[in-house]
Amino acid sequence: MNRRDFIESQGATCKNWQWSWSFINEAKRIIIFGAWDRDTVGKRTRIFSEDWKENQRGMRAGFVQSREHIRLIEEDGFQLMTFPMHRKDDKEGRAKIGGFTQKLTKRKLSKVGGDWFASDYDDVSSVTLAEEISSPEKYSEGTRVSVTINAYERNPKARAACVAHHGYICAVCGFDFANVYGDIGENFTHVHHVVPIGKIGKEYEIDPIKDLIPVCPNCHAMIHRAEPPLTVEQLRRHISDLKKS
Ligand SMILES: [Zn+2]
Ligand SMILES: [Zn+2]
Repeated sequence: MNRRDFIESQGATCKNWQWSWSFINEAKRIIIFGAWDRDTVGKRTRIFSEDWKENQRGMRAGFVQSREHIRLIEEDGFQLMTFPMHRKDDKEGRAKIGGFTQKLTKRKLSKVGGDWFASDYDDVSSVTLAEEISSPEKYSEGTRVSVTINAYERNPKARAACVAHHGYICAVCGFDFANVYGDIGENFTHVHHVVPIGKIGKEYEIDPIKDLIPVCPNCHAMIHRAEPPLTVEQLRRHISDLKKS
């Protein structure tokens, strides 16, 4: 099945099968975008960018059509769906489809700057884990590795249970990612593992609610500046003492 057959089998169409990058099913109020593998990071794909107006020579008509499709999602409540596309550029560097997967997924649209992203609907198991923290060696500045992360902070199930209970706001300073950064800040936090006193070095069952707390990356780094790490209360008190003086 080629891409056109696939799109038509979903009841969707476009103005021109040569230059279109997005498709519409008017009756079901669905907009379909192909999601390039190259523009996908984790569960987020950049599906449209203001920059593409200049870059895609000869694709102007496709750009205009896709911009209108974005508007229909944002303003008229059309449902965004995407299917995975594998990108293979030609010799002139123009995007060519190297293949695609016949699977449509409902996605959520968000805008950051002049770029639009399709992301999965809320999924607490996908709590974003910052790269620095998942690879502690990258956290080193000069000679000293300043943050050591233990396995509990990396365990996706434990993290999901922690944020399901505590939410995403930093337990130390109250930083709220969604409030400051909007859509891209949603469902983001670091999770710090509070090692229960007396259990250090022993096998124990983690309690994701008591033993894990959401913290922002800044506070998380500061907690780990001390060895043993500071407690949340210590760091909080430290910050408020500084404000007083
Ligand atoms: Zn914080
Ligand atoms: Zn930590």
